[in-house]
Amino acid sequence: MNIFQEITERILKGGEITYDEALALLSAEPPHEELYEAAHRVTEALTPKRFDFCGIVNARSGLCSENCKWCAQSAHWRTGCETFPWIGAEACLKAALEAEAKGATRFGIVTSGRSLDELGVEEVCEALTLLREKTHLHLCASLGILSKEHIERLKEAGLEWLHCNIETAPSYFPDLCTTHTVEEKRETLKAAREAGLSICCGGIIGMGETKEQLVEFAFALKEISPNSIPVNVLHPIPGTPLYEKGILEPERVLDAVAILRLVNPRTPLRFAGGRRDMSDETAKRCIYVGMSAGIVGPLLTTPGGDYDDDRHLAALVGYDVSPDLRKD
Ligand code: SF4
Repeated sequence: MNIFQEITERILKGGEITYDEALALLSAEPPHEELYEAAHRVTEALTPKRFDFCGIVNARSGLCSENCKWCAQSAHWRTGCETFPWIGAEACLKAALEAEAKGATRFGIVTSGRSLDELGVEEVCEALTLLREKTHLHLCASLGILSKEHIERLKEAGLEWLHCNIETAPSYFPDLCTTHTVEEKRETLKAAREAGLSICCGGIIGMGETKEQLVEFAFALKEISPNSIPVNVLHPIPGTPLYEKGILEPERVLDAVAILRLVNPRTPLRFAGGRRDMSDETAKRCIYVGMSAGIVGPLLTTPGGDYDDDRHLAALVGYDVSPDLRKD
């Protein structure tokens, strides 16, 4: 039995891969087919057979005070990103109904900015109440850094999930953003969990992280133990400091998916941003290796995956994508 098979068998029996082992697998000479096959076996055995879709709405865009180097919405960079204030509860409902009609089971309200003030919390609560009444969707939101009190008010209004990405390895984050910290994100996620919410937490690959930092990112997520891990691939935006990074090669995307899967064997990995920059063949391989959920487009400032395309690819790989299961 080689090292790939040995680690796969251990994970399938409930054991774990170590940081050093993950780094060794990632550092093996390419091609990495054995790594992808190991991740596929774990995905097939331990993750749900149903490919899960969610939808999101960009409910307040741009003019963000934060200086995240990848983001089109930061006021620190000249990106020409569309800016608009809170869109209102009715506009959130319209987007939610569209996502539900396309096959989403969950729906997230997303606002730009470091956090929400009192008025912002009230506005999102009003939208959650309306969506709870008029849709069957599980309700999620991504609203930046939140206090425990605000999280509890949002939950009372209908929030079931909270999204907050740690984005990358904690040791690399300060190189990419200096206006807030990973610790503040962890505290928000902890408060959400204590309030009884499910949490969605992942990040972006292809931002210049090293192999060590990719493995560190996977283990940082394991420690948080989210209910869903969104995996974005950097879509380089002109005007942002990370524009020069370019688009990650398909093999590096597959490497990241495989490592995230082996370190987090039971957690859905969700295709998020960057899906449109890859071919259907690469997307299909990502699903084979470990992606087990998607987002019905559009995303925030970039186009998302096409529901029909991704549904078709997931079905080819063997997932149940039947729409009659979509309301849980
Ligand atoms: S990622 Fe969020 S916090 Fe950072 S600049 Fe963009 S909108 Fe602001």
